[in-house]
Amino acid sequence: MIWKLKLHWQVFIGMGAGALVAIFLPDFAGPAGKLGEIFLRLLRMVIVPLIFTSIVTGISGIGDPRTLGRLGLKTLAYYITTSLLAILLGLGLANILQPGRGMEVAPGSEISADELERPGSVAEVLIRMIPANPVRAATDGDILGLIFFALVFGLAITFLPERPRTFLTDGFKAAFEAMMIMTSGIIRVAPIGVFGLIAGALSTMGLSVFEQVGKYMLTVALGLLLHFGVILPALFFLLTRRNPLEHYRAMFAPMQLAFSTSSSSATLPATMRAVETNGGVSNKVASFVLPLGATINMDGTALYECAGVLFIAQSLGVDLTVGQQILVVVTALLASIGAAGIPSAGLVMIFIVLDAVNLDTPAAFALVGLMLAVDRPLDMFRTVVNITSDSIGAAVIAHSEGETLHYRDP
Ligand code: ASP
Repeated sequence: MIWKLKLHWQVFIGMGAGALVAIFLPDFAGPAGKLGEIFLRLLRMVIVPLIFTSIVTGISGIGDPRTLGRLGLKTLAYYITTSLLAILLGLGLANILQPGRGMEVAPGSEISADELERPGSVAEVLIRMIPANPVRAATDGDILGLIFFALVFGLAITFLPERPRTFLTDGFKAAFEAMMIMTSGIIRVAPIGVFGLIAGALSTMGLSVFEQVGKYMLTVALGLLLHFGVILPALFFLLTRRNPLEHYRAMFAPMQLAFSTSSSSATLPATMRAVETNGGVSNKVASFVLPLGATINMDGTALYECAGVLFIAQSLGVDLTVGQQILVVVTALLASIGAAGIPSAGLVMIFIVLDAVNLDTPAAFALVGLMLAVDRPLDMFRTVVNITSDSIGAAVIAHSEGETLHYRDP
């Protein structure tokens, strides 16, 4: 019986069935998509309370601000290093493979990029991290604002006298555990959810433009594959001396969810559960590293920003100087930090990088429109890379804090 199989096999069957429905029974793809929508809403329902209770529990449990500072520095160092490695890989591949050379934009095939909302400047993104109203941050799904408030609140708890401190830490810990139980329940229905998500996503993909931008897609896909299959596992091995396959096996469920939802934020509950239950990382480290990672650490997105802008420049016959390419590297890093963990957020942030090298022209925007048409499959892969890097970060940092990773088969 299907439900006797392990969860990840059930999810695979759900994905395959979703693809079959989209191809052979397109009339049913719409109603099936509704199942995906219900599943996504369930996941999104737990994100805000899960992040909040988890961070408050984790931070108030750390207690010592020095430990917190050390964790913070390590986390940032890891996130910046992996994102930069990903960007340099994207830069190298785009220069070698030259996906934009000889591109001809067939008239009428471009889609207007106007429908994409432009992001604010980098400074604006940073300032907006401080929520003027934390309740509104929670209701608007402003994750960075929520993280900021939860960090400060958790820290404040550590300064309370013992009685109220224990009262709050016990209460938040209990609430966090209840959220984890809800998360596990929602993940049980993932096979049905991904069935709907894949059926819905495949049926709305514009197929005709794939040929035109095939080389660009291949370049990005190859970069993502190398980062996922070589760089991240090598880094994991170097820093923990453990077999990366153990980690990848333990993270299979969140990877599948990242692929089906194209959203690091929606995947966060599953990532936290897998890192803690299948990887043995403490709640203290996981609750600090993962929510932050889901919003600011996006290796796949960073690689894509860089390769995407080089593709646009090449297509327009613009030769970027070394100085300009360095600018692309730096702004791609900032754009990936600023991108939200939701579908196609990375594509929107590409405007920041284009702007930095004065490529904000109508011709460039037409190409962004073309990239939008084929964004979904790339988004699926880059989201998998994004959450894999977060989970490795949690494992590496836990290891460096003296924790032993206890991997178990999910
Ligand atoms: N969808 C990606 C994520 O949630 C962000 C992106 O569009 O690159 O991680």
